[in-house]
Amino acid sequence: MKRIGEHAIVIGASMAGLLAARGLADFYGTVTVLERDAFPVSDIPRKGVPQGRHAHGLLARGRSVIERFFPGWTDEVVAAGGACGDIAGDVNWIGHGVTLRSAPSDLVGLLASRPVLEGHVRRRLLALPNVRAVENCAVQGLIASEDRAAVKGVRVRIGAIEQAIDADLVVDASGRGSSSPAWLESLGYLRPEEEKIEIGIGYTTRVYRRRPTDLNGKMAVVVAGSGPNWRNGVVLYQTEDRWIVSIGGYFNDHAPDDELLFAAYAGSLPTSEIYDIVAHAEPLSDFVSYRYPANLRRRYERLEKFPKGYLVFGDAVCSFNPVYGQGMTVAAQEAALLQQCLEEGDADLARRFFAAATEAIDVPWDIAVGNDLRHPKVQGARPAKVRFINWYIGRLHLAARHDAELATAFLRVANLEAPPTLLLSPANLMRVIRGNFSQRRRAREANRVGRISEA
Ligand SMILES: Cc1cc2nc3c(=O)[nH]c(=O)nc-3n(C[C@H](O)[C@H](O)[C@H](O)COP(=O)(O)OP(=O)(O)OC[C@H]3O[C@@H](n4cnc5c(N)ncnc54)[C@H](O)[C@@H]3O)c2cc1C
Repeated sequence: MKRIGEHAIVIGASMAGLLAARGLADFYGTVTVLERDAFPVSDIPRKGVPQGRHAHGLLARGRSVIERFFPGWTDEVVAAGGACGDIAGDVNWIGHGVTLRSAPSDLVGLLASRPVLEGHVRRRLLALPNVRAVENCAVQGLIASEDRAAVKGVRVRIGAIEQAIDADLVVDASGRGSSSPAWLESLGYLRPEEEKIEIGIGYTTRVYRRRPTDLNGKMAVVVAGSGPNWRNGVVLYQTEDRWIVSIGGYFNDHAPDDELLFAAYAGSLPTSEIYDIVAHAEPLSDFVSYRYPANLRRRYERLEKFPKGYLVFGDAVCSFNPVYGQGMTVAAQEAALLQQCLEEGDADLARRFFAAATEAIDVPWDIAVGNDLRHPKVQGARPAKVRFINWYIGRLHLAARHDAELATAFLRVANLEAPPTLLLSPANLMRVIRGNFSQRRRAREANRVGRISEA
């Protein structure tokens, strides 16, 4: 790999920052990750990543990219109590009100708590000889060249001490609350345009005792909200003896943090599997809640002027409705794209990186926002293409109830392992049509049998 510069700084040591640092480590003499929090001694949630208390699934694509960065990482997480499994064969998926037909596939997923996933990435990263992290270090602002054409470093506060740190490249991975728009404005640049789709999602989460016989041995249940109540829910394997359950809905229809009401809410989901855990398994934690207001995308790729030596990364660029489990995978994809960009040097890096990242973001953004727009209260344009896709995916689910190959094709796309066009291939189109005809035939048959037995 070529050496591009002496020093790169990453702001934020959550998943996006750690993966960005891994991408940079092959190209810079030293990479310094600056994190406002102290790292926990064991893999438990921390203040700067409050979502770490809630269910996190890593999509197949994210796992394979992280594994490429850190060979053996999957096995390490499994050795620490996580589980690796088949995303199609070992998980029950319920969408559009129907359960997808489950069958073995090559989609490999990894389940463990969010702090465990992050802790294992952090330790592997910091084992690299040219990467270091500074904890308790809050970045206060950017240092620019005199003509403000380039970022030259950052101003930080470590405890009571303020200091400047120089760098050839600064990457902001400080999350959804990123100060980049304000920092850029203070240097005389425009703020990026923001796209916001309000959804008012609420998560309520509790950890329960897992018994190996629960869920008939499956590792997870995922319910993607659909009419009439639009409620979501997941049960995910955390360790051999723990499940994490997160459930909730749109626009203040949030699951209550009360044992009986939480169970009743779980009972309103289109499968009894989540209710069965919530009502019968031993609780191992209190309830915790999280409010997620809106899908948010900052259009850095549309800015005509952008300072040299600066990038924005991960949730700071785009934060998706967490229900679709895409954030960590998109961060991993961005890290791989950053490496590809750096292979060609650092000339015009921001323009090239934001263009590449935009392509990686477009598909998960369309999946998340397109599906959210099915909810009648979500505000946003619904062009004919979005209406058609949502109608078609509904038909596809009906067919995939009995067609494992179609179900796996859908999961391949949802796991960002294949482009959405896969679902419109002639073979899959035929499966959707055939599946819907046989559904109707089954319904007619059931009606006829019902009428005969009434008679
Ligand atoms: C409820 C919920 C559930 C989710 N579930 C999933 C899931 O199932 N699958 C999935 O892939 N993704 C999921 N996500 C998204 C996922 O958590 C994020 O996409 C992922 O953590 C990457 O985010 P990030 O690193 O960009 O930002 P964050 O995780 O927000 O981290 C930002 C980091 O920057 C630090 N920081 C902030 N400001 C400063 C500063 N000024 N100086 C120094 N440090 C600073 C913070 O302390 C923090 O460590 C979920 C999100 C939520 C909210």
